[in-house]
Amino acid sequence: MLNVAKFGGTSVADHQAMLRCAHIIKSQPETRVVVVSASAGVTNHLVTLAQTQLSSSEQANIIASIGDIQFNISKHLAAAEAELNQQIDQILVSLTALAEQQSILQTAKTGDAILACGEKMSSILFAEVLRSIDVNGFAFDVRQVMRTNSLFGKAVVDLEALAANCDEKLTPLLNDQVIVTQGFIGEDGMGNTTTLGRGGSDYSAALLAEAINASGLAIWTDVVGIFTTDPRIASSARAIPEISFGEAAEMATFGAKILHPATLIPAMRSDIPVFVGSSREPEAGGTQIRQQVDSNPTYRSIALRREQTLVTVKSPAMLHASGFLAQVFAILAKHELSVDLITTSEISVALTFDNPPGSTQALINKAVVEELEQLCEVTVEHGLSLIAIVGNDLNATSGLGSNIFNNIEGVNIRMICHGASANNLCFLVNENEANQVVETLHDKLFV
Ligand code: ADP
Ligand code: ASP
Ligand code: MG
Repeated sequence: MLNVAKFGGTSVADHQAMLRCAHIIKSQPETRVVVVSASAGVTNHLVTLAQTQLSSSEQANIIASIGDIQFNISKHLAAAEAELNQQIDQILVSLTALAEQQSILQTAKTGDAILACGEKMSSILFAEVLRSIDVNGFAFDVRQVMRTNSLFGKAVVDLEALAANCDEKLTPLLNDQVIVTQGFIGEDGMGNTTTLGRGGSDYSAALLAEAINASGLAIWTDVVGIFTTDPRIASSARAIPEISFGEAAEMATFGAKILHPATLIPAMRSDIPVFVGSSREPEAGGTQIRQQVDSNPTYRSIALRREQTLVTVKSPAMLHASGFLAQVFAILAKHELSVDLITTSEISVALTFDNPPGSTQALINKAVVEELEQLCEVTVEHGLSLIAIVGNDLNATSGLGSNIFNNIEGVNIRMICHGASANNLCFLVNENEANQVVETLHDKLFV
């Protein structure tokens, strides 16, 4: 039996947090692969270096802050401190060169090389924390196995190459060591470092679990499992003991930050049960995600995804005509825009776009709008949030609409999508009303 464990940023934020995680690993001899995120705050610093025009001194300040986070961990590891500091220094020196280069050229390729530095440092440190409590930890560069294409920032993993590479390079190491490796990062066929998208370490861990035929995956984070909604929004949210793959996947897709949206794809495909728990309170239990669960309630949870953009296209020519939608989608496909939700009326279509936070305004740009305007009237609205009610048999439940919408009278609902999935009903509201809507609905449906 072989398990994979993933520790998120807050779980590896400092030495004390890492030590807690190391004890979890020590107590579970079957966990042989550990995937770590960057220490909390580091990736955000790296994003600033990669995406903002900064002066040399601003860059130096950010790199010094990153160094502080990492050296504050190594100073507790006396046996290896000098060597660790040398390795961290080396990464920081290369980061300085990359940041300088990025301030001139601003390429996505250098951006990914910058973003990858956080996981490189946390994995080296965590392997040493394991050794400090007599667990044979070994830092393994995931780029040896995680082959991707060259879509920097949202690279796509080559599953066949990953499986073959793991058979050859990773599995043989698992007999007498605990491998500590990086989430979030990969390498393309030309040896360039790539990243899988923000929060991607969950997905890396699931892919590795699949590639080494693991029997289980544990995602250790800062909350004791998946809750009925984000506990930061509704204080009455409570942990869900077990949930089906389908429901958890809907939650992740619709914005529950607890899991990267793609995490459950490999788990479902290879039927690997996933546990979600808190590395602060491992004894508090958590959520089991699996194929079959005992209870399938109508309402399971509420997810919220912010920064949604709604594009409405309107054309009288659409009335009884065919081919209009195909033309709209051809333009969107040409600009590589992925449409999220759709509703239509006789002469208009409303579309939402799910893109990385902060990027939608840039993606639905002037060029896209101008091209669409050749076909139809176009309205673009920002500042919206998508709320998803996740559960079971939602498309066959009477009274669903009144249960939900009667409780939020007075809220302007910009779009509703219901019917295509038995597992969700979702709608758009103004950003500034979103938290209140989630809280109100959570109290009505779950408390
Ligand atoms: P990590 O750094 O461990 O990957 P994240 O910050 O990415 O952790 O995800 C954990 C956070 O997800 C929680 O602190 C919580 O605020 C948020 N979250 C959003 N929706 C949910 C939910 N339904 N259940 C639990 N946590 C949620
Ligand atoms: N460190 C990356 C991020 O903050 C990946 C992850 O933590 O999952 O997005
Ligand atoms: Mg996360």
